[in-house]
This record gives sequence, structure tokens and C-alpha cells, in this order.
Amino acid sequence: MLGSQDLIVGLVIVLVLFGAKKLPELAGSLGKSMKEFKKGVSEAGEDDAPKPAAVPATATATAPRTCSACGASLEPSWSHCPRCGEAASSSSASGGAG
Ligand SMILES: [Zn+2]
Repeated sequence: MLGSQDLIVGLVIVLVLFGAKKLPELAGSLGKSMKEFKKGVSEAGEDDAPKPAAVPATATATAPRTCSACGASLEPSWSHCPRCGEAASSSSASGGAG
């Protein structure tokens, strides 16, 4: 027969077994695992949306330049092609002078 008194006694036994200090920890770890679980689920959900990787600003500066006339590789500092003498045109630069 289980009375309220027996319940309290059982509770006390549990407290003694696990320790009164451990109870908050148990509850905390439970909540933590639930959080981790939710995080994993949400991460799996937005997996098909590719995040744009952080492109370093130096990517454009170190981009390989090639001569538009002969196709020789040009150093970023070169203004003219050493092979054919063609002016090295930087990409998307509006010239104008003909
Ligand atoms: Zn050239």
C-alpha cells in the first residue's frame, strides 16, 4: 500500500541515493541534450541551402591574369604583356581611349 508518507520516504531515499546537489545537474543535462538534439535537427533541415563561403578579398588580387592577345600569364603588376607587348587589360575595367 502506497501512501503519501511512503512517497515522501521514497523521495528522501532517491535524494540520498543521487544526492540533492545532483538533481539540478540531472535536469540540466537533460535540457542540454534536448538542445543538442534540436540543434542537430535544425542543422540537417537547412542543409540543402549552400552558404556562400567567406571569399577573401585577396582572391581578386591574386587572380591569374593572362594576355588577351597571346594568352601568356601576366604578373599583377605588369601593365603590358612581355611576350607580344599587348596592354594587359584588367577585367571589367572601362577604358574608353581608343
Ligand atoms: Zn601577349
